[in-house]
Amino acid sequence: MLKDLECIYCDTKFSVEIQANYSVICPCCKRSIYLECEYGFGPVTPCQIYLGEEIVGIVESNAAKYYLNMNNKKIKLKKTYLEALSEAEEVLRKRLKIFHPNKNLQILTRSGALCFYGDWFGRPYDNFHKIVNTNYDGEILEIRFDQRERLIIYEPENITSTQNELKIEKAKKIKWMYIPYGTNSSKYTTIIYTDECGNIVKETKYGIEHLTIKEPAWAVYLG
Ligand SMILES: [Zn+2]
Repeated sequence: MLKDLECIYCDTKFSVEIQANYSVICPCCKRSIYLECEYGFGPVTPCQIYLGEEIVGIVESNAAKYYLNMNNKKIKLKKTYLEALSEAEEVLRKRLKIFHPNKNLQILTRSGALCFYGDWFGRPYDNFHKIVNTNYDGEILEIRFDQRERLIIYEPENITSTQNELKIEKAKKIKWMYIPYGTNSSKYTTIIYTDECGNIVKETKYGIEHLTIKEPAWAVYLG
């Protein structure tokens, strides 16, 4: 059985053979994009690690000791269970030279309403978002929110964050993924803003719109 995947960061599409436990790294941008395991029900090993369609490592365990198996070479891991999976991925990335450490970026802002280029998102009751975690790898800043929304900001410039407000002056592209208010579905709706030499193009399921920005507006504003 195949699982169809699409990288949410670079839109690369590919499929992998489904396993009981497996994690997937995008073959193009080399970011982690998928993890499925029987966590909570049973062992998390063996866990296949895919780089695109190819298995590049397997996490194995034996009497509570965890190993990363790469080309039949066993590398001992320090951590156990789910943490061993992330440790294994880090070891593997370093060996394959596709490891990009996270850059230090302090986001002090906790929550607020979201606005992109002066274009407010949603109705007031749709538009209050609590930050759950942030991740910045030097190219992409990803902010995850409490209603499972994901905000992916490509090449952000001039980020300022206080307890009350988050402002990002410029970005190459912004992807806002959310689950529409009042739906039971877990399928994301996506809005994309692209900065084409200062002209902002907004792309939704309804089509493409060119935004007219009257005053200088933040690429991203949360507050
Ligand atoms: Zn990718």
